[in-house]
Amino acid sequence: MATIETEALVLRTYNFGEADKIVVVLTHAAGVVRGVANGCRKLKSRFGAALEPFTLIKLTWYEKENKELVSLRQAEIIKSHFDLLSQAETLTGLAYMGDLVIEFSPPHEANDNLFRMVKACLEAVDQAPADIQLVLRYFEIWLLKLQGYLPDIRRCGECHQEFSDTSGIFLNLDLVLRCRRCGQGQGSAVSRKVQIQLRATQKVAPQVFVQASHEVSETVRRDLGAFTQQLIGRVLEKQPRLRSTFQSSAVS
Ligand SMILES: [Zn+2]
Repeated sequence: MATIETEALVLRTYNFGEADKIVVVLTHAAGVVRGVANGCRKLKSRFGAALEPFTLIKLTWYEKENKELVSLRQAEIIKSHFDLLSQAETLTGLAYMGDLVIEFSPPHEANDNLFRMVKACLEAVDQAPADIQLVLRYFEIWLLKLQGYLPDIRRCGECHQEFSDTSGIFLNLDLVLRCRRCGQGQGSAVSRKVQIQLRATQKVAPQVFVQASHEVSETVRRDLGAFTQQLIGRVLEKQPRLRSTFQSSAVS
């Protein structure tokens, strides 16, 4: 039986038994981990307070061989985001973020870049809750990229020519971006302004992206959202395991 101590973000919790919780966390050391926190729902439990969704914690657990659920032992708050949970739009946005992390990440697989990206996005929401939609677009693009689902946004997937500033590019059902010639008018067009937004996410931290996006029109924001939704929808369709768990967690 091994004891593991690592930084973690609480993504989701479910009540379990009389006084326990099942907690899903994104950990630095081991990726997405599910664990039981015994007694954490008792009144004035510091353990329970640390296990509120979207809290950044120092977490200790015991791991037993061949057990999917680990046993959570200790949790200390590094940063609480409790104040964010009182606003409905923020809460919905964060829950969506947590669900997508859970659905796109194989359990017990450490991913340093993913952990840092999610932590930075949470920090960006904390700094500017009103801009949560912009943070979510940044988050979606990076989640797709880190899990290998973001198509090349610089070159045509067919002829490998770099996309020029004037040519339209097209996203097809196979999740490949093509130039106008290779695309032959198939798929949905990705506007120049959306391309600029996409590239911007690759260069800067979420807070900087949010600041820089304040000048961007509603239409471009909506088109960028449609682009990420199309990609996420297709990925979930191609991966039935992802889709079934995503749908069940989205409605619960
Ligand atoms: Zn091409």
